[in-house]
Amino acid sequence: MTAQLPDTRWMARTGAVAVFDALESAGGTVRFVGGCVRDCFLGRPVGDIDLCTDMVPDTVRSTLENAGIRAVPTGIDYGTVTAVVHGDPVEVTSLRRDVETDGRRAVVSFTTDFREDSLRRDFTINALYADRSGAVTDFHDGIADLAAQRLRFIGDATSRIREDYLRILRFYRFLGQLEFDIPDDENRDACRAERKGLAQLSAERVAMEIRKILGAPNPCPAVAAMMEDGILDYWLPEARDIDALRCLNEIEFGPDPVLRLAVLTAGATQAADIADRLKLSGVERDRLSALDPNMTAPVSAAQVRRLAYRLGPEAARDLGLFGRARGQDEWTILVETVECWTPPSLPVQGRDVLDAGVPTGPDVGRILDRVETYWIESDFEPDRSALMELVREAAKEGGGSQK
Ligand code: ATP
Ligand code: MG
Repeated sequence: MTAQLPDTRWMARTGAVAVFDALESAGGTVRFVGGCVRDCFLGRPVGDIDLCTDMVPDTVRSTLENAGIRAVPTGIDYGTVTAVVHGDPVEVTSLRRDVETDGRRAVVSFTTDFREDSLRRDFTINALYADRSGAVTDFHDGIADLAAQRLRFIGDATSRIREDYLRILRFYRFLGQLEFDIPDDENRDACRAERKGLAQLSAERVAMEIRKILGAPNPCPAVAAMMEDGILDYWLPEARDIDALRCLNEIEFGPDPVLRLAVLTAGATQAADIADRLKLSGVERDRLSALDPNMTAPVSAAQVRRLAYRLGPEAARDLGLFGRARGQDEWTILVETVECWTPPSLPVQGRDVLDAGVPTGPDVGRILDRVETYWIESDFEPDRSALMELVREAAKEGGGSQK
């Protein structure tokens, strides 16, 4: 039930130290909990730090503020205050018990009992509490589960899922993120059986989990299990091509949730619907929509360079990887070109057109467009003097309006 953390150096982070100092000197008990303790046991880099305390949220807030620490009530109804110290955010959650749950949110009350707090957490491996010396309290054999790479709900899986259906997505997320083998056990059975409850969750919470699932170094085993279990039926029924996702994972340059989403759902008619449902940003929505499976791959090297220039390196790489992942090897040349070819800049500018005697106005842009098109079609070979010749001719003709 108690153990020692293998490493405590990560605890020295400014934000955590400041919060511990402030709350402890006011009489509170504080512990590290959640991902940071779990990841430390797994030898993984510790990301965000979550703290918990026996002080109630209002006291946490005022104590932090009195110590000169900014305290943002990010989830005050659920007992969470985010302390920001020199730009380093640390979540501080008051020990709590869930009094009432309806599958998507809880009514909570606060407690000073760590065991009670542990009972409202999702998985055994997420309910480990460490003090500043690295001594860990483990109420539910989470350390043994970590050693066995086992993801287990605390208590009865079905009842725990019914309290908050997001836990289903968290189940697959942690399997993926922590690279555990996909189990075939009562935890997964419960997720599968309760999946209809996912429909009642808010899009924001779901979107965040799906993004994390797709952001794992290798999301394929978890996504495949989700598809097999019908977990994506409600929020991402367009997910169909797990083989393409696997292939992308082999050739991609790093985890890219949007590109992975595009590959997984290629051929879905409404990228905009997916973007809305998963709360993508405007830029992400545009990336998703630009990846059209019906596009044909450029054939010649010149065509490839033209496309890479027109789209810009990021969008061109997206398109190349998107095609290759779906088994169309002819896109390889686009990916390779983007890697080794820097698109040149047009050697003439608006200024040059004005200098050639064209008055300020729409003709300047038209002439530039014409010159650029010629330059691209000529595989970027014409140099500045050749292009200036063209500019002067167009100026003489009286603008870019005539061809
Ligand atoms: P990471 O930060 O790496 O995503 P984490 O485990 O810290 O993983 P958070 O979402 O930061 O996950 O939550 C912190 C802790 O709060 C979890 O470890 C878990 O104990 C608890 N928790 C979070 N969400 C839920 C939930 N929906 N149901 C039950 N407990 C939860
Ligand atoms: Mg966390």
